Amino acid sequence: MYLKKMFLPTLKEAPADAEVASHRLMMRAGMIRKVAAGVYNLLPLGLRVIHKVERIVREEMTGAGAQEVAMPMVLPAELWKESGRWDIYGKELLRLKDRHEREFCLGPTHEEAITDMVRRDVRSYRQLPLNLYQIQTKFRDEIRPRFGLMRGREFIMKDAYSFHATDESAEEEYRNMYGTYSRIFERCGLYFRAVEAETGPIGGSFSHEFMVLADTGEDSIVSCNTCSYAANIERAGIRPPDGASLPLTGAKGIEKVSTPGMKTVEEVSGFLNVPPERLIKTLIYRTGKGVIAALVRGDFDINEAKLKRVLGADTFALADEKTVKEMTGADVGFAGPVGLKIPVYADFSVRDMRDGVTGANEKDAHIINVIPQRDFSAGYGDLRKARQGDPCPRCAGALEIKKGIEVGHIFKLGTKYSEAMGATFLDEKGVERPVIMGCYGIGIGRCAAAAVEQNHDENGIIWPIPLAPFHCHIVPVNVNDKDTMKAAEQIYSSLTAKGYEVLLDDRDERAGVKFKDADLIGVPVRITVSSKTLKQGSVEIKERSKEGARLVRIEDTVKDVGTLLEG
Ligand code: ATP
Ligand code: MG
Repeated sequence: MYLKKMFLPTLKEAPADAEVASHRLMMRAGMIRKVAAGVYNLLPLGLRVIHKVERIVREEMTGAGAQEVAMPMVLPAELWKESGRWDIYGKELLRLKDRHEREFCLGPTHEEAITDMVRRDVRSYRQLPLNLYQIQTKFRDEIRPRFGLMRGREFIMKDAYSFHATDESAEEEYRNMYGTYSRIFERCGLYFRAVEAETGPIGGSFSHEFMVLADTGEDSIVSCNTCSYAANIERAGIRPPDGASLPLTGAKGIEKVSTPGMKTVEEVSGFLNVPPERLIKTLIYRTGKGVIAALVRGDFDINEAKLKRVLGADTFALADEKTVKEMTGADVGFAGPVGLKIPVYADFSVRDMRDGVTGANEKDAHIINVIPQRDFSAGYGDLRKARQGDPCPRCAGALEIKKGIEVGHIFKLGTKYSEAMGATFLDEKGVERPVIMGCYGIGIGRCAAAAVEQNHDENGIIWPIPLAPFHCHIVPVNVNDKDTMKAAEQIYSSLTAKGYEVLLDDRDERAGVKFKDADLIGVPVRITVSSKTLKQGSVEIKERSKEGARLVRIEDTVKDVGTLLEG
């Protein structure tokens, strides 16, 4: 491709709303342009990278036995009503009506659509298993679209769905997809980790998120510094303290103290001059299983995902002020487990506390000298949010917390959709059963953005070779010099003939400007052609990822570039 003809509008400055490197650089490198919040144009250079990601995904999915299909983006409300999600999906689902007032939505994900597709034609166990995937534009009306392609409202996703007659078959496919995803992200040149994620009511370890490690990631990844344990922050377990209760002898009885207006852990701890570790934080939740109290040590936080899982409740939220007052008899900030009449769930961090301080269920009062197993009863479990240095749930190691970008997610769905939508098959004995499903997603644009997040410097993008929009970037220093242009064009032709994708900067610009753009765009190999080096029969070759250039004889250029690109 000759740059002069190409629509490649590079920018000196990134727009003010570009907060992260990938967003800034993809804008500046002329890859993307914003149309509306979270909605982008992909310019030629951007689309080339997207196609690279898609190609890797297609090759690996096909290689793994999955088949590509294409489903509509506009989906009828009826399907979503059958699954029950029409009413619970919330505002991320963009709903619309046609001219006959029929309701539709823009597909944010396609479980309903694919279940409908499969139930129409699959009758027998003999037609299973199946893994069907598509690469398609999704729409989710995200509350906070940001970071360019990383969190768009319209974005490209590869979504795959598998269908099985048995649990074993579904689990085998899960492992197959786990391996496939690992290969896809490796081939994309991404540095990633697969972490255990929440599975909801299914349980087991059949949900993994593939996280690209990057400081600007929106997700927190918890991993052990000793063993291979890794989970997302919602899921991450913490080894409970060894449980040996301290002797109760000599302990004082509980005592009520006045704490006027002191509601938060900081306020109470400052006012009573006790460290936050001695406070028992009490939170009241309204859940599908009734109103409950959750306790955690004052310096820790409740992990709501873990609490929700322990409760097995479908609805779950912090109680409003009115409920708190009704249940505890006091304003928010003065709740405590002593004398409380609702079920109490406590984190292990509370179990062995001595001389604890907690709300008195009375305005402006707290109780001191609280000993959990003496002064109130509670169910104990691992309910708190993991912190740096917490003990690993699997070994004696310590947990580390890093930031990550979720690029993929694999999930064993079970029969949630097939049961709701009547996707059944006849097994070997002729018994009708719901198909067992799995689903597997990859954010295509997010992968490209994550690659930039991991591979850039102050001058621009440093594309990993497999995702690079071009392989080589030829810079003739002076386009008005005939010999220079002739050599540049010859190198262009021989590299192109070898199957490499080559960009030739034929603009009549100063060399400095061209080098700046080359660094910004981040093509892996730059070839500089100038009359000075041509006199010695050579050109200059520089890798974007390395310092310093080398002189290479013109006749060796193709071979040299081949070695750089193919290793
Ligand atoms: P997140 O927690 O980041 O919102 P999610 O759990 O909603 O992600 P899934 O429903 O599992 O995501 O979607 C599959 C994949 O699609 C994700 O792993 C991610 O790579 C990508 N993805 C999800 N939402 C977006 C978005 N708004 N913009 C770009 N890619 C997205
Ligand atoms: Mg989401």
